[in-house]
Amino acid sequence: MIIKFWGVQGSYPYVSVDKKSFHTPCVSIETEEALIVFDGGSGLSVLDLYYKTTHKPVYLFLSHFHFDHISGLLSFSKLFVDDASIILVHPNPNQVKAMLDSLFNTPFFPLSRDSLRCSIDIQTPEQLSFASCQIECHELKHTGKAYAYKLSVGDKSVVYATDNELDRTNKSSFFEFIKKSTVLIHDAHFYKEDRDKYKGWGHSFVDDVCAFSDEAMVEQLVLFHHNPKRSVDSYRELKKYISKTAKSSKFLASIELSYDGMEIDF
Ligand SMILES: [Zn+2]
Repeated sequence: MIIKFWGVQGSYPYVSVDKKSFHTPCVSIETEEALIVFDGGSGLSVLDLYYKTTHKPVYLFLSHFHFDHISGLLSFSKLFVDDASIILVHPNPNQVKAMLDSLFNTPFFPLSRDSLRCSIDIQTPEQLSFASCQIECHELKHTGKAYAYKLSVGDKSVVYATDNELDRTNKSSFFEFIKKSTVLIHDAHFYKEDRDKYKGWGHSFVDDVCAFSDEAMVEQLVLFHHNPKRSVDSYRELKKYISKTAKSSKFLASIELSYDGMEIDF
């Protein structure tokens, strides 16, 4: 299976002066039976073009409903065709219904919820049953709650955990949830210079994520939900820090900065 990254940035999308696009969260894994998508940020509009002709049901796992994680729904063409099957996954189906009713209505959208012609089902992670993989869910520390999802195939697993303020000292259930995962995609919105100002903002600091993942014996760490306000100098320093940290880690085989268009063989 291949993990495809369609949007990796937090807060808002933009196009840089050299025409590189930076979309908000959307990651997918295609299995034999389904297209599994984590979050519907603006990256979903790029996935939409790539998978235009697929007839597989789309399982869209929502971490939470902040706009950078749902804005791509507005341009997701499968929602507007009769023969598509979309399953929205979240631990609280009532919140998903309320989100759809608000988003596809005035003043956010020109058409009403009735304009969504595809078949939409809303399920909790516990209700799902796939032949090719298993799904688990874990609550995260973020304003208004967010959720992480773990997809396991045999003895391999990928964890998608964004919009989470990691507490390095707390080795409780989340530590167990990510322990020994093959790939961990984790929020790394802030870097060390942000610590004084942004502690308590619901996002993680790069050094905490690296240390926590190494202690949890994660194999491959992918840093995700980048801060769009990160300066060029800070980014350069971050790359150096990652390369140094990866070499000195006890268990982590690699630490990578995710980017739009990245693919990982899983
Ligand atoms: Zn976010």
